[in-house]
Amino acid sequence: MLIHLRKIATPLKPKLSSSLNKLYSDRPLKHSPLLKLPFQHSVQTLTRPQLEALVLSRFSQGKFFDLLQNVVASPSVLFTASQNLITPLPSNRLNAPESLLSLDMVSSCFSVEDMARELYENRFDVGACCVRLESSEEKGEFLVLPNLKLKVLLEAMKMVLEIVYDERFVTFSYGGRVGMGRHTAIRYLKNSVQNPSWWFTVAFRRRKFDSVHVNKLCLLVQEKIKDDILILMLKKLFELEAVQIELGGCYLGRGFPQESGLCSILSNIYFNGFDKEIQQIRLQKNEENPKFSLNGTVSFHNPVKIYAVRYLDEILVITSGSKMQIMELKSQVLRYLEGNLELEVDRMNTAIHSAVSEKISFLGMELQAVPPSVLHPPMSEKAIRARKKYLRQKEVRAIELRNARERNRKKLGLKILSHVFKKLKRTDGLKSEFQIEKEVTEIFRNWADEVVRDFFESLEDNTEWHRPLSAGDFLSLKHIRNQLPVDLVNAYDRFQDQVNKHLNPLKAKKEKAREDEEKRLVEEERYAKRTVEDLTRLCIKVEAPIELVRKAVKMIGFTNKMGRPQPISSLIALEDTDIIKWYAGVGRRWLDFFCCCHNYKMVKTIVTYHLRFSCILTLAEKHESTKREAMKHYSKDLKVFDLNGKEEMHFPTEREVKMLGERNLADPYPVDGAFSLFLIRLVTDEDSYPCIAHFCNRTDSILYRVRLLQKTLNVNPSNGVEWVRGMGVIHESLNQRCLPLCADHISDLYMGKINLQDLDCTLSLDMD
Ligand SMILES: [Zn+2]
Repeated sequence: MLIHLRKIATPLKPKLSSSLNKLYSDRPLKHSPLLKLPFQHSVQTLTRPQLEALVLSRFSQGKFFDLLQNVVASPSVLFTASQNLITPLPSNRLNAPESLLSLDMVSSCFSVEDMARELYENRFDVGACCVRLESSEEKGEFLVLPNLKLKVLLEAMKMVLEIVYDERFVTFSYGGRVGMGRHTAIRYLKNSVQNPSWWFTVAFRRRKFDSVHVNKLCLLVQEKIKDDILILMLKKLFELEAVQIELGGCYLGRGFPQESGLCSILSNIYFNGFDKEIQQIRLQKNEENPKFSLNGTVSFHNPVKIYAVRYLDEILVITSGSKMQIMELKSQVLRYLEGNLELEVDRMNTAIHSAVSEKISFLGMELQAVPPSVLHPPMSEKAIRARKKYLRQKEVRAIELRNARERNRKKLGLKILSHVFKKLKRTDGLKSEFQIEKEVTEIFRNWADEVVRDFFESLEDNTEWHRPLSAGDFLSLKHIRNQLPVDLVNAYDRFQDQVNKHLNPLKAKKEKAREDEEKRLVEEERYAKRTVEDLTRLCIKVEAPIELVRKAVKMIGFTNKMGRPQPISSLIALEDTDIIKWYAGVGRRWLDFFCCCHNYKMVKTIVTYHLRFSCILTLAEKHESTKREAMKHYSKDLKVFDLNGKEEMHFPTEREVKMLGERNLADPYPVDGAFSLFLIRLVTDEDSYPCIAHFCNRTDSILYRVRLLQKTLNVNPSNGVEWVRGMGVIHESLNQRCLPLCADHISDLYMGKINLQDLDCTLSLDMD
């Protein structure tokens, strides 16, 4: 039974058994015994409202009390936290079916009840849950990581703090929050920021939070939460380095093992005062702006506005005002960060830039202010001609279709008539078992209606009929009319009136001319509006830093010095499928990350051309064949066969890449965690170890040795010339360590569906 359950829980096979589903379904709050805390009888996953109710029950007189002992130390909360560690965040993987964790599986790692009791009695040993990974090199840095049990505690604390704080954060605080990721921030910049003129980003000196910062953080937490045990726990976690926050180090929000969800929320709490300060400055500025009531008249007045976006430790401040204003703003910002928050700002790299003339890099992308026509260029002459041609062709096709329909109708009508006629001749009268007259009448009436309508709609048909009917008849000659009966002449005149009324092509022509004129006017107006907008408005263009991406492509070895695809020799030791998956993981992450960029096409080219062909060449080199043979074997879509001989495709197809566009993606992980990690399969005679993905424990695992890119290339990541600026680095202590992973989890890791944060790296092995 246990093995069966484990299989269910692996993310790749998320088939839910209905009984399990029922056992752990979300029961409404009223009937659950949850509020009997902290040690209720049944342990079950909590829904967000249930957890909220639990946290709010500890609220009185503006503060929360004793959350650690009463909420975090509840087996259900701990169990829910465990569940969160394997269930992908809803924001990250929208379509992933919910995977399910059973209490048995958690119990096989540690006892939730015992852990809850330890926490409640304040004798939880944090130190025993920390593992120190030494670097493989002498004098290398070491890394302290929490084990799975401690990770559960961190997650539980994060969940509780999230409920206390999430509504208290300002709207421009992104990162580590549900639905507030990089793409949301970019969308805000694109849609809401008007006429940016000056801006700056804050660069922090690379530094870990020390006791000063931790004490400050604890004071901030204490403003809202009165819980000495929680504060002691936080201090202990920082002291033992189980939790680390390093500003300016490019590893927050990248899925590296030393970070956890708790880090994100703690940095948001730390910066919350700063956010509020900026919010205050913004409001003040808005109030200073003179108010106009213009009643719809066009105005070129643009009130000065201030905008800010903070994504964890990345801060961007924008103004639509003068340089003086941004300078003042910058000194205010730095005063708060250096004074109140005691952070070290790298003043050299915190420079003010003109939004129009310089690009600024933020969130791994490049921003610049441009006129709207750059983002939505008007159609070129060529495009307009092509469009006209297309419309004409469409019209011709429609006419052809109509003619064909008419022809067929005539044929069918004649057939019916001749059939009826024959029947009539053979028998006396038409006798049928079915009464079909009604249907036939209906059909003919429809046809007739359609024909008449088509006739009146067609300018040519009207002209054709109008000409003979209105052409100089002798009835219109004055001296003849006099000799004719008055009734006849009147009837003729009336008839002529009707002909003119219904068939006169002049009228239809006029109508068409009027419509064309209207269209022209609308077009002109649009042109005028666009021109004025171009002169008066600025919006933000977001681009992928294509130079940096190219540099990364070259550094990793996808291309040679000439920029042509080349094989990557370090990957040759991998299985075919794993080679393809590794490439797919890098490519898909790049495609996800930059999907909101104006120059997305360039990223697409890099993935679909450079990466695809580098992969084909690597496969060719591995099998000592030519590129042509490899292409023939794997096809351009890089097809492989699984154990059952079923075709598999992991790399996005050319068509798929072409169709990709901006999607409502939640926070994407940057690609640095995917490409700086090679996992080489190890062959050993030893017994297999349990899979180290959270709560997986599958024993049919295989050992993979980690080889980090910077070690393979022998470059120093802190050297800006050798390494790509802004790309994070996996900690060197993981190099050469061995990870036991089951087939599902190694696949997920290659494809970038999970990352090192989803593994218990404390169980990695140091083998020679
Ligand atoms: Zn596994």
